[in-house]
Amino acid sequence: MALTGLQIQKLLPATNCKECGSNTCLAFAMKLAAKKAGLAQCPYASDEAKRVLGAASEPPVRCLELGPERRLKLGGEVVLYRHEKTFMHPTALALNLNDTDAPEAIRAKLETVSNYCLERVGEQLRLDMAAVTQRGPEAGAFTELAARAWKETRRPLVLRSPDAGALACAAAAVKGSRSVLCAPSPEAAAQLWRVARENDHALALAAPDLDRLAALAADIKAQGFNELFLQFTGFSLAERFQTNSIARRAALKDSFKPLGYPTLHFVETGNLLDDTIEAVNELAKYGGICVLPGFDAAQMASLMTLRLNLYTDPQKPIQVEPRAYAIGDPKPDSPVFVTTNFSLTYFIVSGEIENCGLSSWLVVPECEGMSVLTAWAAGKFSGAAIARFIKGIGLDQQVTRRDLVIPGYVAQISGELEENLPGWKVIVGPQEASDLESFIKSRLSSYAQG
Ligand code: SF4
Repeated sequence: MALTGLQIQKLLPATNCKECGSNTCLAFAMKLAAKKAGLAQCPYASDEAKRVLGAASEPPVRCLELGPERRLKLGGEVVLYRHEKTFMHPTALALNLNDTDAPEAIRAKLETVSNYCLERVGEQLRLDMAAVTQRGPEAGAFTELAARAWKETRRPLVLRSPDAGALACAAAAVKGSRSVLCAPSPEAAAQLWRVARENDHALALAAPDLDRLAALAADIKAQGFNELFLQFTGFSLAERFQTNSIARRAALKDSFKPLGYPTLHFVETGNLLDDTIEAVNELAKYGGICVLPGFDAAQMASLMTLRLNLYTDPQKPIQVEPRAYAIGDPKPDSPVFVTTNFSLTYFIVSGEIENCGLSSWLVVPECEGMSVLTAWAAGKFSGAAIARFIKGIGLDQQVTRRDLVIPGYVAQISGELEENLPGWKVIVGPQEASDLESFIKSRLSSYAQG
């Protein structure tokens, strides 16, 4: 349970020495409560304060780190709803390989895991993991495929087998990958947590219902192993939605630690559309790792985009660096467009101009990542501010023709801009970026394309 500032203050020395950077212990306690400071900043904190505040500062959903350098972080969530603060660590997306798959299918999936990359708003979105499932009778074939997947992708794996012995062999073969072993039953989990610990992997637990799953997690934690994922097995989509929500609410609102772990789910409905819906449910409703049965480009692009949207910080707009961007091969007599440095706006506008084949300059002044109308209302996208920016980067010295296209939503700044940029002609562009193509064809036809 989170402590209030007043509760934290009672644990501090009350000397108001200011060494933590705050004027009083109370002010520091308020910062700790708001998670804007760390207890280490107070050199006089007692062991009791460290013990109590250390436990209180643990996220209600445990943060687990996977991969050879522990770069893939999962869990660590502190809110039920994104708008309350932000979601911390995106759901990991994985592709499943079966040891009975045809060699060509295995090769193609491994290549996809290694090389898939979708670029969106300046981010490179990739697959995080591969999963290896034993479906055939040979433990050796399963271990061999696990070792190959690790060698070729260098990503953490999800290892799934009905045979605890086969899992133990595969776990040893991929030691160093910091992967996840899926225990097929509570009985297998009782053996496999030691295997996971010896080989530095995590363990995903499964049990017939939520109560037995929570009891299993509490039992294994009590034995000293806490690198756990939860698998909610055997539920319909509606039940999964409900169960994911119940478990996350229990962890966050009731501080129920046995359900405070990231989850793992294999999507395998046998139908692409149903698979996609189930994967969307995992992304939107707290999934830790979501394993897909195969690769479909349209499905993957949709899931990656949704994940990016859900896991950006709603309080920090994604921004691009304020500067003049060259689109195509602009010359001094190329036209100049201006928009804000909100990433989505920038990438949509630049994409539309690029699609028209018109080489030009796209100026994005510092607007704190706001969209056009918001930035204008906040005074960040005024005629004076844009003119100041253009002069500041020296663009008025680089271009000769000096045609400046502004977004149609801020047509009202055109007069102010012309006053502040003598010698420039301000052209009011369309309100929507999707209308840029027809605008360029009709209003900028005198510019050479290319
Ligand atoms: Fe209080 Fe510690 Fe800060 Fe000093 S350093 S003011 S004792 S919280």
